[in-house]
Amino acid sequence: MIRIFPFCEDLYQASVKPVPDEIMHVNLTTTKISLAQAHRVLGHISYSSVKHAIASGKVTGVQLNNDTKELLCEACTQAKPHRKPFPDAATNQATQYGEQIHCDLWGPASVISIRKQRYSIDFTDDATQWIMTDALATKDQAQAAYEHFKKWLKHQNNAKIKIFRTDHGHELYNKDFDKHLFSKGTICELTVHDTHEQVGVAKRPNRTKLELACAMLIDAGLPKFLWFEAIHHAIWIKNRTPTRALANQITPYEAKYKIKPSFEGVPPFGTPAWTMIVNAGKLDHHA
Ligand SMILES: [Zn+2]
Repeated sequence: MIRIFPFCEDLYQASVKPVPDEIMHVNLTTTKISLAQAHRVLGHISYSSVKHAIASGKVTGVQLNNDTKELLCEACTQAKPHRKPFPDAATNQATQYGEQIHCDLWGPASVISIRKQRYSIDFTDDATQWIMTDALATKDQAQAAYEHFKKWLKHQNNAKIKIFRTDHGHELYNKDFDKHLFSKGTICELTVHDTHEQVGVAKRPNRTKLELACAMLIDAGLPKFLWFEAIHHAIWIKNRTPTRALANQITPYEAKYKIKPSFEGVPPFGTPAWTMIVNAGKLDHHA
């Protein structure tokens, strides 16, 4: 496939037409890769999680070959602090997609992103644990991001938000927002930041997302200003890997679409690619 990408700030920006998530699984081939390679393809989730995801058949498109050595991953060593694992029990309560949404705001990032943003905002659906993420230049864009997400949910899934939860009341919640939610019949529940007992697995601050993003940037040797690109890919992977927050530890993808996700042909984040130079002279490099 040949595409023309605009050049911006020393990078080629690839704007790829989105493929609906529900048809991305239509791939019946399987690639055999080492455990270390699978760890990188699956965005640096733990070796045990990689083995569980593949052996249980909860993700498709990749299989492990005979090389199952758990090599020390330097990127993970640098990116992830040692901490206790999250609880085993499924904690989601909702049954319908979109009826309970947990919102998590992160930032400001220490480095401004390539698109001049400093914050990321996540909307996690309680029933499926499916996460949508967006980047913001300032915190006061959070309400607009919520409005955009709400409209998307309505048009794409015909879903209405019944309960909106956040542990960032002081940042997201104000009188206007309160009035708006009330007028739409949405209940707002404020939770205590970073308290596992209160917010549970489904609503905990999304620290693993940041750890995976950090490991991917380190592993690929990419600059920090691509932090949102790494977060976006980490969320893509989290939506396709098993989670303890759901019964039977299925993937959010399976909970949402009732089919298993495929990792066939997915390269590790930051894999170098050649770009063709369209107007190159006959003696110039063409890629
Ligand atoms: Zn790693």
